[in-house]
This record gives sequence, C-alpha cells and structure tokens, in this order.
Amino acid sequence: MAQDYDLVILGGGTGGYVAAIRASQLGLKVAMVEKQELGGTCLHRGCIPSKALLRSAEVYRQTKEADQYGVEAAEPTLNFTKVQERKQSIVDTLHNGVIGLMKKGKIDVYEGFGRILGPSIFSPMPGAISVEMNNGEENEILIPNNVLVATGSSPKSLPGLEVDEDLIMTSDEALHMSELPSSIIIVGGGVIGIEWASMLADFGVEVTVLEYLPQILPTEDADISKEMLKQMKQKGVNIVTNAKVLGDTLTKDNGVSINVEIEDDTKTYTADKMLVSVGRSANVKQIGLENTDIKVENGFIETNSFYQTKESHIYACGDVIGGMQLAHVASHEGIIAVEHMANKDPLPMNVEEVPSCIYSNPEVASVGLTEQQAKEQGYEQKTGTFPFKSVGKALVQGETDGFVKVISDAETHDLLGVHMVGPHVTDMISEAGLAKVLDATPWEVAHSIHPHPTLSEAIGEAALAVEGNQIHG
Ligand code: NAD
Repeated sequence: MAQDYDLVILGGGTGGYVAAIRASQLGLKVAMVEKQELGGTCLHRGCIPSKALLRSAEVYRQTKEADQYGVEAAEPTLNFTKVQERKQSIVDTLHNGVIGLMKKGKIDVYEGFGRILGPSIFSPMPGAISVEMNNGEENEILIPNNVLVATGSSPKSLPGLEVDEDLIMTSDEALHMSELPSSIIIVGGGVIGIEWASMLADFGVEVTVLEYLPQILPTEDADISKEMLKQMKQKGVNIVTNAKVLGDTLTKDNGVSINVEIEDDTKTYTADKMLVSVGRSANVKQIGLENTDIKVENGFIETNSFYQTKESHIYACGDVIGGMQLAHVASHEGIIAVEHMANKDPLPMNVEEVPSCIYSNPEVASVGLTEQQAKEQGYEQKTGTFPFKSVGKALVQGETDGFVKVISDAETHDLLGVHMVGPHVTDMISEAGLAKVLDATPWEVAHSIHPHPTLSEAIGEAALAVEGNQIHG
C-alpha cells in the first residue's frame, strides 16, 4: 500500500540524514530511502574511515620520532589488520549512532533503491517514489509532499585506468586494503590524492603522485600548495606535476606500469598498486530524473540557493548538486532545503564562509578567497602571514612546519580569506569561518585574545601582520 509523507529523502548520507533529523524537529513526517548503509560516503567510504587510517599513520610516524621528545622506544612495527579493525569499529560506532538518531526522530527508513516516478495515479505531479527493496519484497510506493535528492557521488575513473579491485583502486577500494603495498602510484594530486599520499608515506609506502596540472591541490592558495609540495617531498613522496597519464600504456603484471607525458618527455612509472583520485561524479543515474523537469548541468543537478530544482517541490543537496563536495556543506544545504520547504525562511549559504580542510600531515584548512581569486575579482589586497616556527606551542608540540596567511581588502579592511597549513589547522579554521560570517576585519580577529601558549596565536599574529604589526616575527 502507498504511504504518505511530508518528505521523502533519497540517500542517507550526511546531506540526507541531517536533513531528515531537521525535518523531524520541524514536525514533518519523514521517510528515508537508502540503498546501502545510513551514513553514506562520509561515514563508510570517505571522511571517517580515511581519517581513522590517517590517525594510525600519524601515531606510527610519531612513535618512530619519539626519541626527539626524550622517549626511547623500540622501532615500532605496524599491525595493519589492527589498523583496519580500529577504523571499522569507529565506523560501526558512528553508524549505530545514525541508526539511533533515525529512531529518535521517528524517521521511517526504507532499505532499497528509490526512483522518482512521473505524474500518475499516485500524484498529479512527479515525485512519488518507488522503492525497490533490498530484501526482495514488493516495491514500496511513497507519496510525498516534498522530495530531497541526496544521492551523493562516486569516484571518477580515467579511460584505461578502470578499477579492477586488485591493482587499480579508487579510495573506495583502498579503504579496504588488507595489507599495504610497498609502492603506489596515485593519479591526481587533489584532496584525496594528497591525503592518501601523506598517509601511505607515513606508513612507509613508496608513493608517486601524478598530477595533471602544474600544482598539487590546485584549488588552494598557491602559497599553500607550494608549502605542501615541499612538505610532501620532505616526507619522501615523489610528486610529478604537469603529468599527462597515458591510460592506454598501462600494463599489469605483478604490479602496474604506465607511461606519463611530462612536458616534452615521456617517463615510465611502476608500482605495486595504483590509486585513481581524479574527482567524483554525481549519482544521478536511474533515480528517475527523466520523469521530471529537473535540469542536470555538467553532470550535477541544478538548484536555486534554497536547493529547489526546476520541480519546486523536489529539492537536492550535497555532492549530487556539485559545488563544494564536502560533508559539512551537504548537511548545511540539507538543513536549508528542509527549512525552506517548511517555510522557515532560512538564510542561503555563502560559499565564501565555508571552511575546507585536508587531513594530511601537515594539515591544510582555508576559508574565503585565495590570493589568486581575490586578484581575479579585482580586489586590492593586503596579506599577512605568520609561521608556526615562531609560535611557542608549535615548538612544544614539535610541529613547526607551515604558516597562517590572512588576506584582506586594502580598501575596506574586510577579511577576504584565511589559509593555513600546519599542525591542527583543521581544528582552528572555525575561528576564521566565524570571522567571515561576522564580517570581521583582521584587526578584530587580532583583537580577539588568543590564549598563550596555543597554536591559535598564529591566527592572531597573521591578522596583525596584515598591517605589519605582528609581535613575534
Ligand atoms: P579533486 O578535484 O580534489 O582532485 C582531483 C585532482 O586530480 C586534481 O588536482 C586534478 O587536477 C587531478 N586530475 C584530474 N585528471 C587527471 C589526470 N588525467 N591525470 C592526473 N591528474 C588528474 O578530487 P578528489 O581528490 O578525487 O576528491 C573528490 C572530492 O571529494 C573533492 O571535491 C574533495 O573536496 C572531496 N573530498 C574532501 C575531503 C576533505 O574535505 N578532507 C577528503 C576527500 C575528498
């Protein structure tokens, strides 16, 4: 029998499940349709498991460096099975948490594949959902007032470099490796490529990164990319930029071998395994978009700033709409979408206020415009930078690499962007995010007292450095 709902959500990832909770708080009757597991990419194939592995890599590296702190320990050995078990237990704990939150919110969860139906006996408008149930039972039909499409994204591959679950992997497969390779080629030096390069190098794997563009982390501020290049090289990662990977030259035997065009030269690279991290494409196939007027542009669902598609009762959020493919963006979009459908008049999201983070060692975090973007937009800018090596707490920590860079508008003194590379910067960027939301000036950021000794002093000092007033440098 068909079931009526105020809202049916396709996809139980970070965008979908957070939206479901907010909708339930607002008194809506909500159904969630999920074909795999609640928690989606972030919890099962992305943020959480990769950060758990990165943490083990960090502990392994720091144990090897323990004598610097006066702690003499035997050479550590790595038990990768235990590393994977720890990762899985964190994922399981959080997964149970999400299941509990759905129960608490009285959200009906349908385990199956949801498809949007066109106008029919169920509804004069497109939007009724047919759920092909995982347990093989008859399809469920759900009749909603509103739909939220939050079906996420999947790793892209390249011609000739298709995943084979043995030698060629994306991050999906790499997360489940039962043992570490002794060497790996990573195609793509973006966020995933650099996080994995950092992690695997810390685990002792020989890593080569092949990046098509002239710089790794191409969307970051150029100074940050440059510093990361230096740090990755110091870690022993072989970074090759301007690298055109020739997919048709791939040979697989006991490992992989591939030719790469680098400017006027062609080189061959070999390794035990290959990880392809060249972006993610939206999951828009087979979800019934053809039964609607929803527009798909460059592979992503098009929405307005309240995440309504061309069918005003069908919303979409998260990776499936493109933009910043980040878990915290997806959840924020989901909340705005739900509040909009419940007539709560939410504020649209400003992408310049969204922090982004890279959990490599060292970490990278940023909010707002890069120096290059500010220039393109015609700003006359002033910048201030401050290195962690001049911060007492960084010396105490034994983590002195990196810096904070603050960019402001020379005319209005508005804060345009904050970019950081260094220890724990992913935990510190929220201060800069708040400063952007409150439209603070660097003077106001510096006027907010940074406790001593903390790593956050680098933010205050970089803000002072915009006018040349830094104290310790
Ligand atoms: P990305 O867009 O960050 O990086 C892809 C990289 O691959 C780019 O540097 C690009 O120039 C390069 N590339 C593309 N084609 C290539 C080719 N043929 N040969 C060599 N290099 C090539 O994509 P990603 O790293 O796959 O990550 C996917 C998405 O997931 C991103 O939007 C990212 O922000 C998100 N993500 C975020 C986090 C985080 O927040 N910490 C972690 C993982 C992923």
